[in-house]
Amino acid sequence: MIDFLVIGGGVAGIGAGAQLAKLGSVRLLEREEALGTHASGRSAAMFEEDYGPAAIKALSAASRCFFESQTDGQDSYLSPRGLMLVGKPDQDAAFDADLRELDLEEIPPEEAFACVPILNPAVVSRAAAHETAQDIDTDRLMMDWTKALRQAGGETRTQQEVTAISRTAQGWRVTTCSETHEARQIVNAAGAWADVIAEMAGLAPLGLQPKRRSMAQLPAPGGHDVTHWPMLMGAGEGWYAKPQAGKLLVSPADAEEVAPMDAWADDMVLAEGLARYEEMVTTPVTRVETSWAGLRTFAPDGVPVFGADPRVEGFWWYAGQGGYGFQSAPASARLLGDLIAGRRPEFDPALLAALAPGRLL
Ligand SMILES: Cc1cc2nc3c(=O)[nH]c(=O)nc-3n(C[C@H](O)[C@H](O)[C@H](O)COP(=O)(O)OP(=O)(O)OC[C@H]3O[C@@H](n4cnc5c(N)ncnc54)[C@H](O)[C@@H]3O)c2cc1C
Repeated sequence: MIDFLVIGGGVAGIGAGAQLAKLGSVRLLEREEALGTHASGRSAAMFEEDYGPAAIKALSAASRCFFESQTDGQDSYLSPRGLMLVGKPDQDAAFDADLRELDLEEIPPEEAFACVPILNPAVVSRAAAHETAQDIDTDRLMMDWTKALRQAGGETRTQQEVTAISRTAQGWRVTTCSETHEARQIVNAAGAWADVIAEMAGLAPLGLQPKRRSMAQLPAPGGHDVTHWPMLMGAGEGWYAKPQAGKLLVSPADAEEVAPMDAWADDMVLAEGLARYEEMVTTPVTRVETSWAGLRTFAPDGVPVFGADPRVEGFWWYAGQGGYGFQSAPASARLLGDLIAGRRPEFDPALLAALAPGRLL
């Protein structure tokens, strides 16, 4: 009998496992061959404190300190990127809304053209920017937390798809394709599949909705060195583009509701998004090197679902992080650890109530 069985090997499950390994025995089960195969391996890896609903902003702000800590001679997990919003003449309303929401400062378009020379002066009429957006080293974060989980005595098992869950006198019996596990408590960190896991445990789903988001990797446009360009966003989040390892990732910022699945990019959605990006720049898209899609999973109110399921003992939700699961991960994992340990969390009761699974019942 183990203390905590974590279902899902993305950033949520790994982060929860690393916290819980300090409290008792932990086993993490992941369906795929490798950890981080789904949303956590496909993100844009941005830290933008002003992005998302109020609960996410609070969790992201509380995560910054961990990301920036330089313990054991390690560098910060964050590196400078910056965010630049661009709009054309018929996008004033959307531009103004983004300006307020993301707390950006409007800059003369000429400044934007000097910084990102592919922006088209004949089309881009307004620009705004701020420096606070940063890149997150998501690979290192996942590696470090996996190491912490294992060093504290926890284990991770891959190729273990959970297929059945039942109650026992002391907790739960969880069956996978090849094993049976007995655990006192379960953490549901199954990302897009979190409602599927709840149903296996005999609980009605909470209405979590996966939404697809696609990415195309382009060669550096016009042969420019894109290393220090900010992340670019079209007004109304019609597209965004982000430098990565000398390439430019462009996303149509799509949010199509889909069933939980191993997502892939739809050619038409990608083409339409690339056309919205292309309209704002002088360099045509001649080649897409590769493309992919991942699922961002949202509760009906857009706020994550963290905490105990009030309908049954020992079933914890850690899901619904939407498009913000990395930037909020350190504080979120800490919060889940505090709730499970029965410690007083660092957040106020109103935030805990906003995150509690019971609000959706
Ligand atoms: C394109 C894209 C861009 C994004 N950009 C950002 C960004 O810039 N910044 C940011 O903070 N966030 C971003 N996100 C969001 C972030 O990636 C997610 O919030 C986060 O990765 C969710 O982590 P997770 O562990 O909950 O889910 P996942 O990483 O999907 O992990 C869930 C795991 O559960 C496993 N699982 C499911 N069912 C079972 C089962 N029955 N048995 C065993 N295992 C199971 C799955 O195989 C999966 O590996 C982005 C997401 C996408 C898709």
